[in-house]
Parts: sequence; C-alpha cells; structure tokens
Amino acid sequence: MSINPSGWRPEMTPERRAPVQSFTGNKALMLEEPLIFEIGDTKTTGVDFAEGDVAHDRLGDLTRKAPIGLPGLSEPETVRHYTRLSRQNYAIDLGLFPLGSCTMKHNPRLNEKMARLPGFADVHPLQPVDTVQGALAVINELAVWLIRLTGMYGVAMSPKAGAHGELCGMLCIKAALEKRGEGHRKVVLVPESAHGTNPATAAFAGFTVEDIPATADGRVDTAALKARLGPDVAAVMITNPNTCGLFERDLKAISDAVHDAGGYVYCDGANFNAIVGRVRPGDLGIDAMHINLHKTFSTPHGGGGPGSGPVVLSEALAPFGPLPFTARMADGHIALIEEETAGDDHPDTFGRMTAFHGQMGMFTRALTYILSHGADGLRQVAEDAVLNANYILRSLEETLDAPFAGAGPCMHEAIFSDANLAEGFSTLDVAKGLIDEGFHPMTVYFPLVVHGAMLVEPTETESKAALDQFIGALRSVAERAKAGDPSLKSAPHFAPRARLDETLAARKPVLVWKGEAGETAG
Ligand SMILES: *Cc1c(COP(=O)(O)O)cnc(C)c1O
Repeated sequence: MSINPSGWRPEMTPERRAPVQSFTGNKALMLEEPLIFEIGDTKTTGVDFAEGDVAHDRLGDLTRKAPIGLPGLSEPETVRHYTRLSRQNYAIDLGLFPLGSCTMKHNPRLNEKMARLPGFADVHPLQPVDTVQGALAVINELAVWLIRLTGMYGVAMSPKAGAHGELCGMLCIKAALEKRGEGHRKVVLVPESAHGTNPATAAFAGFTVEDIPATADGRVDTAALKARLGPDVAAVMITNPNTCGLFERDLKAISDAVHDAGGYVYCDGANFNAIVGRVRPGDLGIDAMHINLHKTFSTPHGGGGPGSGPVVLSEALAPFGPLPFTARMADGHIALIEEETAGDDHPDTFGRMTAFHGQMGMFTRALTYILSHGADGLRQVAEDAVLNANYILRSLEETLDAPFAGAGPCMHEAIFSDANLAEGFSTLDVAKGLIDEGFHPMTVYFPLVVHGAMLVEPTETESKAALDQFIGALRSVAERAKAGDPSLKSAPHFAPRARLDETLAARKPVLVWKGEAGETAG
C-alpha cells in the first residue's frame, strides 16, 4: 500500500485544501481507503498447501499460465477494508434521506426480526406446499391487504421491483387486448413528467410511446390526453400522486375516457405512500398498479433491497395475471396455483414473472409493517408524510423557487427549481453543498418538466427536529448559491472525494484495475 505522503488525492487542488493536513490523508475517523488491489498481495498473504501428488492435468491447453491477479489480503485486512468502505456510505440509519420519488424511510427493526424467524428465513421455494403453509399464509394475507387498501380485484405478488411490476401490468394489458382481437392497439400514452421506467416498460413490452404534455400547474393535460385517444391507443400510464408531488385530480375522468375509447389505465403506484388509507386507486378506475413495497411499506431499499413490486389488477385484467398465486381454499389451507395446478381455472394467464413466488423476505417485512400500523395507522402514515413535505415546502418557498407552491398543498414531496440561483450556479451545486452539511442530496433534475428540479421527500418517519435541521442546511446552501459563493462550485469539501466528473464516470466507467506493471486484474 502506498500512502500519498501529502494525504491529498489528485483532484484536491491547492484552493480546496483545508489549512491542516494529516500525514495519512485520514480525517480523524474518516479513513482514506485505497482499492483492494492496491493493498496486500498474494506473494505475502495466502495459504501454503503441502506439495501433493500432482493430479492428472485434465485442462490441456486451458491451463492458466499466469497468476490470476486476485488481491491478497489477510482476514483482518479484508474486514478492515470493507468496514472502512462501508463507513463512507450514507444510509437511512445515519440520517434523513431526502430523495424524492423514492420514499426512503426507516426500516422498523420489528420487520427484520420477523423476517429472520427461522420458519420464514429458512424455507426453500421447492418445499412441498403443505410444509410451508405459514409462509403461504403470509403471502396470502399481504395480498388481501394490498387488494383492500387499493380497492382492486386481484394482485400479482411475484414482480420483484416497481419496474418489474410495470412490465407485469403492461403484459396483462397486452394479453387482454390480444384476447379481444385488438392486438393492433400499439400506442401507450405517458405524461412528460413520468419516471423513465414508464416509457421504457411500454417500449420493452412492444408498445410505442407518445408523450402527453403537462399543464402549467404540473398535472396531466387532460384535454390533450382525451384528444389523443383512439382505436390505436392501448393504454395510458399515469403516476398518482405524480412526480411533481401533486395529486392528479382528473384521474377518474381520464380513466372513464380511456375505457370508453377501449384502452386500459396503468397507474404507477410508486407514490402510494402519500395516499395509502386515504384513496383507493380502484375507485379511480385504474386497471393495474404496482406497489413498491420498498417505498410504501418500509422494506429495505436500493443497495439494502431487494425490492418487491406486487401489481394490483382490476377485474378486467386479473384473469391475465401471472402464475403462481396463492388462494385460500374452502377447508382453510392455502393452495399455490401453478401451471400444473391451475388446470382450466386460469387459462388466460400471460405466464410467469419469476422462477418462484417473489421476494418472501420482503413480504414478511411489509406485512409486519402493515399489521403493526393497522388500517388507521396506515392512514396516518399518508397524512404525516404529506404534512412533513408541506412543512418543507412552506419553510423553503421564500428561499428557493417552488414552481407549484401557488397551486395549493403538495403531496408527500416538495419540488423546487434552480430559477433564482445566481448566474452560473445550478441545482448540482446545491446538491453538492448539501453533502458537506452531512445530508444525502435530494433527487435532482427529475422530473424533467421542471428546470433544474430538486425533489425533496422527507417521509413520515422524520421528526420535526430532523426536518428543521435539514431545512436549515438546505436554506444555508441555497443562500450561498443565490449569493454566488464561489466555494460552492467546488463542493463537497469534506467528503472522501471532491467533485467528480459524473458524466465521464457513468459513460466510461473504469471497471478493471490496471496493476502498476500494467497487468490487469479483477
Ligand atoms: C421508484 C419509481 C419507479 C421504479 O420502481 P423500482 O422499484 O425502482 O423499479 C417507477 N416510477 C416511479 C414514479 C418511481 O418513483
């Protein structure tokens, strides 16, 4: 391991240096960490095997001729390497995660405790059905809750994320159209503010995507949408509440118009957290909607996932939903309806989404969360999430431009723009400044309908004290961006790495370590 004696990485130009530097480059408990290939090597670490009888070589020409270049670390070195890296992470267990359109909320430890019970954690997907009745009961009970909470007819539990759920819903729509002999309907209408997964899903499922414009107040332009309906339109995909943090008030009228024109309504339910217990999507005429359990129902998210994206279905689409699904039989036992057992009962299914039943661990966590809140508690979840977002919106609307603040309350996320920052300062500078304040930045540059968007979602699990601290930090950074403070252009100053060229990193990622001698490894 070579320690850069000045302790500074190349991107740390003299202007960015703090007045005092440490010999190691460490900043107190924030430890510098090289790549794993830069520490240890296989010549000094490893296991010495006794010379054995040389086994007959069966690899022929394929025998490896050079060392494979694995990093060579002892156990304590390995543990320290990964522990140091893990400390450079920001996590929901460290502080508020203001990412909009993500619902990054606290994962109650009770959920974890339930999911770790051996009877749930150790079941195998190929076990005989009568040995896993408890696990199937969890899936079935969660399914019943999701159906009741949404006012829908059925649910496909197996999709493994929101985007996977979108695909499930669109495949149901495709199957339903084909069954009606209307497979020629190929157009899916998607509002401009939609999450990128919506048009991507529609295209992946074989549809062509057309944009629907937004109105000045951030909602779907209902007149434009109705005008586009016709015999070539398969479906609309609408997010409600939408990605501008606003409730789509016309959704029932939109659904009625889409149905009259022979199409289906897909609702992106990623923002269900804001309306759970208050609004039943089924009452709005929706045919399919995914529910991100990792958003609304507090199961771990992102790198802490996996996610889970059950899809609730209307009576019209339920027959086309995927296998397998659970059903409680007259004698009380729970059956798993698979290809072999469905028989003639589910002839229109479009097929399967996953090898087995979905994310069992997430089902257990989500059901625990639901049962520990109860129906009234879930309603309060939505109310508190909306209250917290409005507190942020009203606390910052004088500092940052808030394009839809005049239109009334927001739902569970508040949106700001870069409109009143100083010349040459952008949303990116505000986001980077927040890192120095100890916060993960909010969602930036999404949705696309707002220039330089900053989308902030606090969730219901944050206290007023935590919100006040975040508001103070964001206000302070925003004031610097409005005053044109040049030091903000090079933020973050206190993070392990300063401002990176993110476009280059995304477009040309260096995924292979080039050893000092130029040999590659990894
Ligand atoms: C998160 C999100 C998705 C995608 O969900 P994943 O679980 O990440 O696949 C889709 N639409 C919206 C509006 C979202 O916020």
